[in-house]
Amino acid sequence: MGRIQLKQVTKSFGDVQVIPPLDLTIEDGEFTVFVGPSGCGKSTLLRLIAGLEDISSGSIDIDGADATNVPPAKRGLAMVFQSYALYPHMTVRKNIAFPLRMAKLDQAEIDKRVNGAASVLNLTDYLDRRPGQLSGGQRQRVAIGRAIVREPAAFLFDEPLSNLDAALRVGMRLEISELHKRLATTMIYVTHDQVEAMTMADKIVVLHAGVIEQVGSPLELYQRPRNTFVAGFIGSPK
Ligand code: ADP
Ligand code: MG
Repeated sequence: MGRIQLKQVTKSFGDVQVIPPLDLTIEDGEFTVFVGPSGCGKSTLLRLIAGLEDISSGSIDIDGADATNVPPAKRGLAMVFQSYALYPHMTVRKNIAFPLRMAKLDQAEIDKRVNGAASVLNLTDYLDRRPGQLSGGQRQRVAIGRAIVREPAAFLFDEPLSNLDAALRVGMRLEISELHKRLATTMIYVTHDQVEAMTMADKIVVLHAGVIEQVGSPLELYQRPRNTFVAGFIGSPK
């Protein structure tokens, strides 16, 4: 399960409110994309959901239970970082196993999950390599593998492809969409790239200065933008 509900959530840094009261429901199994220009609050919103930042007011429910004060490691969500967050001195196997070793799972269970993730991500032949011996796309898959092994209720991606070149980005978009189909797990994906949003999302959340301008499917947003901001943002190429 991975239904996430934000109720009247706000976030301030000092005196500056970057997220005014915001309500949002992310349905179980949905691929939701937060899109909007740089500085509009996408990362902040994702970090609030992950519990990496405390909300200033409001509440967050995960699968019907109040998770507002639940620490990040206990929320059952996995954040996927950019591939440069890998440990260069560890093998792929050790990198993927890392969160499970931290959680002190037994070795047989760790092996089973790492091998399963490697198989899903086509990394089986690369488990003994180190990140420096992999392509950019393979490194990104290792970063995703580290999330998969935790068997999270939802995956949270913050611009995971922004340090890949354009051609690789297109391939990785397809791979992440494919992974979503296969796992059928809730995914929240943050990007400032309209094309990424339009091609990957079941549901797009358009943010502007911490405010949700519109929520809808790519087709709904394209055909019936609620205002000129959405029309301009979705309509204009990057
Ligand atoms: P995005 O990810 O959409 O580019 P962010 O969520 O990173 O936007 O930032 C939203 C706003 O919050 C920006 O104005 C940013 O400067 C501010 N902000 C983010 N993190 C902090 C922080 N730790 N301290 C103060 N201001 C912050
Ligand atoms: Mg950001």
